Order: sequence, then C-alpha cells, then structure tokens
Amino acid sequence: MLMSPVQFFRNLPKKQCAVCKQDMVEQADCYTNKCEKCDSIH
Ligand SMILES: [Zn+2]
Repeated sequence: MLMSPVQFFRNLPKKQCAVCKQDMVEQADCYTNKCEKCDSIH
C-alpha cells in the first residue's frame, strides 16, 4: 500500500545541521546537511 506524501514526510527523521546540530525543520526534504544559516557561509 502506497503512503501518501504527507505520511512519507512525517515519517522522515528530523535532520540536523552538520555544523550547528540544530534541527532542520524547514529543509527536512532537502539534501543539504547544513541549515540555512550555516549553508550561507561558504
Ligand atoms: Zn547550522
């Protein structure tokens, strides 16, 4: 049985920023491993 997209994203583990270790709630479906703040520092 297929999961609805909503269930799929709800089941994803919360990602944490690789730099500051904060939960990345807004970018949980993105493949960056840094939060917006750390990712802007290049
Ligand atoms: Zn960060």
